[in-house]
Amino acid sequence: MRIYSLLSITALGVLSYCSQATQQPEVISVNGKMSPTEMGTTLIHEHILVDFIGADSVGYHRWNRDSVIAQALPFLMDAKERGVNTFIDCTPAYLGRDPWLLKELSELSGLTIMTNTGYYGAVDSKYLPEHAFTETVERLAARWIAEFQNGIEGSGIRPGFIKISVNSSVPLSSVDQKLVRAAALTHLATGMSIASHTGPALPALEEMALLKAEGVDPSAFIWVHAQNENDFSYYNKAYDLGAWISLDGVVWNVEGHLDRLIYCKKNGLLNKVLISHDAGWYSPGELNGGDFKAFTAIFDELIPLLKQNDFSEKDIDQLLRINPARAFAINVKTAN
Ligand SMILES: [Zn+2]
Repeated sequence: MRIYSLLSITALGVLSYCSQATQQPEVISVNGKMSPTEMGTTLIHEHILVDFIGADSVGYHRWNRDSVIAQALPFLMDAKERGVNTFIDCTPAYLGRDPWLLKELSELSGLTIMTNTGYYGAVDSKYLPEHAFTETVERLAARWIAEFQNGIEGSGIRPGFIKISVNSSVPLSSVDQKLVRAAALTHLATGMSIASHTGPALPALEEMALLKAEGVDPSAFIWVHAQNENDFSYYNKAYDLGAWISLDGVVWNVEGHLDRLIYCKKNGLLNKVLISHDAGWYSPGELNGGDFKAFTAIFDELIPLLKQNDFSEKDIDQLLRINPARAFAINVKTAN
């Protein structure tokens, strides 16, 4: 008996050591692994470059990295001056994702930058490569998992999250369902969170149901562009399911985000809310990259308004520091 209990204690000790070792939280930036606590003030949804030409024509030949850097770097420095430490780039593959560009901008700006894996189904699949239609869910997931394991296109730069997108009508199209299910498999294999460009609540709820059916808890899901839902009661619903509510278009409508944030604070939802600008970006094909929107409205406009509406420093820290670190930590979340 005594030997048995000693063995059990030792076994438990080893087990708890192992689980601590494997569950050490981490996030992945273009420079590799780091602790979520190092993220600091984080903009969770921004863009350095977006190319809307379409999956059939997009490619690195479409932009000159030095020109993009000349345009984007001053905007990144403006954000850094306002206290930003981490910048999460949400441009997916086939819309201008460029890990080499992001790494160079990270080095030049001193900001932590994160990129993603996954495909964008919205806008009637204009940004989906042909193989998204022909391959199985498993095969698509295998591509995204391979990027997590080996890096993107030989760059050695790994994605820190899954970025997908669906059209806003329900029920979801079969290819959009496929993207969600591939994201679920990728999550289960890697622990990366799933940020899905969605907008209204109904498709978001359908995505969460699909994820659950694949064994993924909605707490792994970031409901991107949740500001496009006008019935705020859906924020309570998403919160109860455990999802992240991403109010990420501040640069386009400061007042609209203020209203939603006041609602979320009144309803005790702030610990699951993320904010960002959805600003930027260099547009290949346009003169000097087009009209680049700054990453500053949260600091220059929204935060003063939040303070006038009784938001504390702690609330603002929750939105810009605590929640991003939790939402983007690598962690497999299985559904019960
Ligand atoms: Zn965006």
